[in-house]
Amino acid sequence: MNPIIEKSVTELAAAIADGQISAVEATQAYLDAIEAREPEIAAYNETCGDLAMQQAQAVDAKRQAGQTLGPLAGVPVAVKDNLCTEFGHTTCSSAYLKNFKAPYTATVVAKLQQAGAVILGKTNLDEFAMGSSTENSGFAPTKNPWDTSRVPGGSSGGSAAAVAGRLCAGSLGSDTGGSIRQPAGLCGVVGVKPTYGRVSRYGLVAFGSSLDQIGPLATNVTDAALLTSVIAGHDERDSTSLPNPVGDYLADIDTPIDGLRIGLPREFYTEALGGETREAIAAAIETYKATGAEIVDVSLPHSRIDIDAAGNISSFAVACYYIVCTAECSSNLARFDGVHYGHRTAEKVDDIIELFSRSRDESLGDEVKRRIMLGTYTLSSGYYDAYYNKALKVRRLIADDFTAAFEKCDVLLCPTTPTTAFKFGEKTDNPLEMYLSDIYTISLNLAGLPGISIPAGLSKDNLPIGMQLIGPVLSEKTLFRAGRMFELASGISRLAPPMLKA
Ligand code: GLN
Repeated sequence: MNPIIEKSVTELAAAIADGQISAVEATQAYLDAIEAREPEIAAYNETCGDLAMQQAQAVDAKRQAGQTLGPLAGVPVAVKDNLCTEFGHTTCSSAYLKNFKAPYTATVVAKLQQAGAVILGKTNLDEFAMGSSTENSGFAPTKNPWDTSRVPGGSSGGSAAAVAGRLCAGSLGSDTGGSIRQPAGLCGVVGVKPTYGRVSRYGLVAFGSSLDQIGPLATNVTDAALLTSVIAGHDERDSTSLPNPVGDYLADIDTPIDGLRIGLPREFYTEALGGETREAIAAAIETYKATGAEIVDVSLPHSRIDIDAAGNISSFAVACYYIVCTAECSSNLARFDGVHYGHRTAEKVDDIIELFSRSRDESLGDEVKRRIMLGTYTLSSGYYDAYYNKALKVRRLIADDFTAAFEKCDVLLCPTTPTTAFKFGEKTDNPLEMYLSDIYTISLNLAGLPGISIPAGLSKDNLPIGMQLIGPVLSEKTLFRAGRMFELASGISRLAPPMLKA
């Protein structure tokens, strides 16, 4: 492997700033990697090599002229294809938006560009970010670089696989119920879901507006902290964005937190938690204990995961999430009507209703239709109180449990996913089973809290196992330090799939 690709975001940015490596060399190294491995991984919907090279040349010219470089100058990154960009297409992996070119650029992408990052392209996702495997992509699924017969997770599967397969140095995803953390867990990379409102959603194609949050994926915690610090901050174009100043996430990141109190939510450690994942998390807990962290038992009663005699798993959080997110999806996706932009039916239609319904029917995938229908149902008069209002009450109870738990601890620790990456097709016939891949990630979105998924180790089959740290609102800095503590103590960082060693 080209030694440039072996560098982390932080190392690469430093090497470019020092003039040891040029931005053009770094970009070329990643374009070569894409040429070599993208056919096998299929992480990208679109790459923009020429534009990337122009951005790299501009960075090199700036350096030669002695101008100050941004913190990501010359670092090649990728962004999820539900982030609007004036360059290339913005498809959300939907046939509906296959030819759509956005008229403006999302704030997060503009911030990456201002920091000097080189954007390599747009990554694949489950259509409109609805799914957990990228199998719902309207184009083709992305493969997990650890085992290409397995899914990379989703919906930010392309962003996670691109980082794991070193087709970019870092990437951006979006997380509505786990879409950054779950694929990060399954691909052996770090993924961050910031506090709701910490990162601007301007230019993110909305799925569930009260849940959606953009965050980075990277090969280690420090890189994830750096990328978060670049994209975070108030944006007057997003009325839900928080005014609080962004702290310095990198200062003290290598200093262990004295007396860190780690809460283990007992409801997450039930029989629903599979064997090898349970063992890896138990080992992570021991690692933390050895650093002097205090382990505390806490309870999140409304995030409980139940398992009945027949082995069926159920969770209030999953039920609540699928009412809130489908309700918001049904209203957000109403804009895709075949009139303003996107796919319009070529059939002759009698009236505007037929134009809407044919255009939508021809171009939206099954999962997207399922969610629009579920959401429309739960919002309809007569059902609104029984479903939507009830779900909002459950959401409040879930959030209150976290507040109570954080009186006893600084962070919570649990698995990111119940199992390692599953095979293609394994869960596609059973949406409920697919929905359960998010049992550990979903309640955070409902509560608006930040979470980070970090590799905890590998299974016997050599598949990554992810662990999740959860913190109170705006505790990103603590999460990064606590995550870095684990990397330093365990030596687990920058995992590389076997395909990179071949
Ligand atoms: N897998 C979850 C879903 O299908 C979460 C998706 C997401 O976070 N965008 O809705």
